[in-house]
Amino acid sequence: MQLGKFSLGIGDRFSHQGVAQLRAIAKANKTGLDISPVWNKSNREHIYVHSHPADVRKEADAAVAALGFTGKYFVDADHINLGTVAPFVETADFFTLDVASFIGKESPEAEVKAFVASCSKYLGKLAISGIDHPIEITEDLLVTIAGKFLAATKQASEIYSFLKEKKGAGNFITEVSMDEVETPQTPVDLFFILKMLADKGVPAQTIAPKFTGRFNKGVDYTGNVEQFAKEFEEDVLVIDYAVKEFGLPAELKLSVHSGSDKFTIYPIMASIIKKYDKGLHVKTAGTTWLEEVIGLALAGGDALEAAKFIYTDALGRKDELCAPYADVIDIDDSKLPSAEEVAGWSSEKFANTLRHIPGHPDYNPNLRQLIHVGYKVASEMGTTYTDLLKKHFEIVGTCVEENIYDRHLKRLFSL
Ligand SMILES: [Zn+2]
Repeated sequence: MQLGKFSLGIGDRFSHQGVAQLRAIAKANKTGLDISPVWNKSNREHIYVHSHPADVRKEADAAVAALGFTGKYFVDADHINLGTVAPFVETADFFTLDVASFIGKESPEAEVKAFVASCSKYLGKLAISGIDHPIEITEDLLVTIAGKFLAATKQASEIYSFLKEKKGAGNFITEVSMDEVETPQTPVDLFFILKMLADKGVPAQTIAPKFTGRFNKGVDYTGNVEQFAKEFEEDVLVIDYAVKEFGLPAELKLSVHSGSDKFTIYPIMASIIKKYDKGLHVKTAGTTWLEEVIGLALAGGDALEAAKFIYTDALGRKDELCAPYADVIDIDDSKLPSAEEVAGWSSEKFANTLRHIPGHPDYNPNLRQLIHVGYKVASEMGTTYTDLLKKHFEIVGTCVEENIYDRHLKRLFSL
């Protein structure tokens, strides 16, 4: 099973927008592209919204059937580990092996020594085609890298072996993710991580490192854009070299866990993958849920009231809702509008405040991030919420499609 050159991870908390999401990808594919949709949902999300991995498969299959979509598509067990993978085995065909928590865990000395010995041919100046400066590789560096990543890659191989036994080799896509950590992995780290994965027989088709900068949920990139661009380009070159050097799958590509809406760096990524004719996987995360709230606000009446309730309730429970996402949100409390203020807002004012149009005078990334993590509120509303989605599916679907096509795909694929 091969992922294909371009793929887009789409999240859908409440499983009502599969068709609208797919419409956006189908629209882009009409221009000659071949982007594969990957519906992803993590264990954490399933717990919060009381859904099951099988629901994502049902939604994906139904959307594909409804639109007669003929391209490849996948269902991603996002950020799983050995403890959480089991319920995903049957219905997912893409597995994101999250081994971030194993970074820095100690490995037996013999394993470290064996790894360092296996890298002797890279000692000295390692030249990677396209990277203008040779990389200095010392034994100390190799020991440090082994100390950081040997245990994590070993964990990846254990999860992979489990899946191989359950599903059969070649019947699923393997992604290895290390993005949910503080410290970015450098291109040199990535090179040796890929060697470790190859040594352990993990046929990764995508790899998700932690990049420089902050990838907060639902808002733009913050960080050193030039540094990101340099790192991203070097990662692309390292992967190209590592594929040939270590015999990893030829289609191996970067996976950017974008947290959605990284509008500043999308065009940078686009130009680099175009320059080297490489593939890319981008996870856009669950901002489809924000488009639901925008659509409901625009629908007016009780739907607008529901959108206001979601914000107001989330405001009152800010600490509780933000806690699981503390590392990936930055909310300035002083810029959150009060419940009283929002109560007086029109449909347009609410939608414009929540919708991510850079430079729009009403756009408020603080409110946006709070609602983004506030999906638990909608989940607790149960059928009150989902009945509104059904009633207003047209306007909501239009928002979902426009968001993915106009704000994401256009920037990512220069459409
Ligand atoms: Zn991630």
